[in-house]
Amino acid sequence: MSDALASKIAAGEVIERPASIVKELVENSLDAGATEISIELENGGKKSIRIVDNGEGMDHDNAILAFERHATSKIYSFDELYEIKSLGFRGEALPSIASVCRLEMLTRTEKSPAGTRLIVEGGTRPEVMDAGCPVGTTIIAKDIFFSTPARKKFLKKDSTEQAHCVDAVTRLALGHPEVKITVRAPKRTLLNLPKTTDLAERIALLFGDGFGNHILPVKDERGHVTLHGFISEPSYTRSNSKNIFCFVNGRYIRDNFMLNAIMTPYRRIIEHKRFPAVVLFIDVPPADIDVNVHPTKMEVRFKNQWEIYKLIGGGIGKALADAAPLSQMASFYSTGPADTNPTENFTERVQESLRRYTVYSGAERPTFRLNDSDDFMQQNLQRLFDTRVTTPTVMLFSTLEYMGQFDGTYLVFSGHESLVLIDQHAAHERILFEKLKKISYENAEEKQLLLIPEVIQLSPAEFALFGEYRHILEDAGFDVEEFGTHTVAVKSIPAILAGINLQDLIADISGEISKTGKAASIDEAKDTIFSLMACKGAIKANQKLDRPEVNNLLRELDMIPIASTCPHGRPIFIKFSIHELERMFKRR
Ligand code: ADP
Ligand code: MG
Repeated sequence: MSDALASKIAAGEVIERPASIVKELVENSLDAGATEISIELENGGKKSIRIVDNGEGMDHDNAILAFERHATSKIYSFDELYEIKSLGFRGEALPSIASVCRLEMLTRTEKSPAGTRLIVEGGTRPEVMDAGCPVGTTIIAKDIFFSTPARKKFLKKDSTEQAHCVDAVTRLALGHPEVKITVRAPKRTLLNLPKTTDLAERIALLFGDGFGNHILPVKDERGHVTLHGFISEPSYTRSNSKNIFCFVNGRYIRDNFMLNAIMTPYRRIIEHKRFPAVVLFIDVPPADIDVNVHPTKMEVRFKNQWEIYKLIGGGIGKALADAAPLSQMASFYSTGPADTNPTENFTERVQESLRRYTVYSGAERPTFRLNDSDDFMQQNLQRLFDTRVTTPTVMLFSTLEYMGQFDGTYLVFSGHESLVLIDQHAAHERILFEKLKKISYENAEEKQLLLIPEVIQLSPAEFALFGEYRHILEDAGFDVEEFGTHTVAVKSIPAILAGINLQDLIADISGEISKTGKAASIDEAKDTIFSLMACKGAIKANQKLDRPEVNNLLRELDMIPIASTCPHGRPIFIKFSIHELERMFKRR
């Protein structure tokens, strides 16, 4: 390791608090191939941290070497930082830790007959002796910052420092479900994580049943980049983003860019200022990461930010969409006598399944019929129920019976013992909004080429803003060109927005963007722009719809993940069950 590299890295190398020590030591244990790691904390780690692992250990010479600065064998050049699998890359941790506390290490490899005991106090020369001990390494760090009272003063109360230690272990534990990890305080077990091959199991142990019972798998890839992990259903949210964990090539990363990418698909599904729980692993070819970012800062810069952004947003979006029709539609027809009669209910489910099967798979409607022999029906239906797309026990919009339009705005339906009103504008708005989001994630825009490019004059201020959101338009399927000092020409638009008033749209977007200002994140800007597009592109109130148009709308509502509110949060439909009507008419 060169000196330049060493100093580059050493600059940010600070043992801030007990949790920093816990993190470094547990990383070392993981690097040493430990399958069991036990951590004991006294006074939140301030008084002592004891870490025992069953990893490969060190022989006499390496044990001594480990306390010399930059003695790592794990990396050789700065560029390799992200190429390596191991977590350590600094050869700095042990000497740094030893310089701020009283440290004792006991270690033995399988090959060496005797173990080594090493004692260092506040960075003095180590005292080394032979000692009996099992294979693996035990490190005890006592009296953190005893030699630097000024820093010691900055430590928080025991419970706070202990929480930081547990957080540090939690991050590492998420990345290594195959390792048994325990954390104990004198009178309490803080974490007890048996080894498992199932990440979801570890998540459930770390976060409790709240997340554990509302968990959705995520799996996606884009080129050489892969994404996997788990997210919480929209019904499980938290008031802060602390339960969002991202790992890039195994390394924990806390980065606003990724946080934004994660939040985008949740936006407008969960309440404002609420956060999901997320554990995501992103694996990127090392060459695609810009390593010119300090490794200890938990940030990362991707060469191809947008690709990663889309992968994260798209992967999570898909997972949510897969799950959403069930949860959100369940409330659509939640009441009614059908629910009270299991047999009737079953038939309902059967019919719904068949319809849904047809809608989702695009497949031919299954050939067996409902009045065929019971066994046969049961068998085939069971098969249908077993596949994911056919499990819903709920209704579809497309099975509603259209009765007419009221006040040029509300579509009136009957179906499933209810009277259903749909706001045509709100419904179409939501459909367009979801489609625009999908287009921008999947790069799947269907463009409509304008025969004559539409030239739009902007004010100089609007034109200045245009540059900031231009890529969002392009993402959605617009082709635009800038002309002269304040003119843009639109050459094509997303097909779903055919007929939209571009002049108005661009002016409104500029207006909105200047209102939200530069502080707005890309997602907020995107959300704003897409909802404006959706609003402008959607069927208006007081617009006559014919039957095929109504049917189309219903079908599209069935296909989108979120069909209960428009992007502004207004309801898309209102439903009166027979019960409710009967109550209103005082029949009950
Ligand atoms: P780094 O992890 O960056 O290599 P450290 O200062 O954390 O630097 O550790 C120095 C060296 O000590 C490591 O490279 C490793 O060889 C050895 N080492 C540290 N902790 C352990 C451990 N728990 N088990 C086996 N070897 C260890
Ligand atoms: Mg290390």
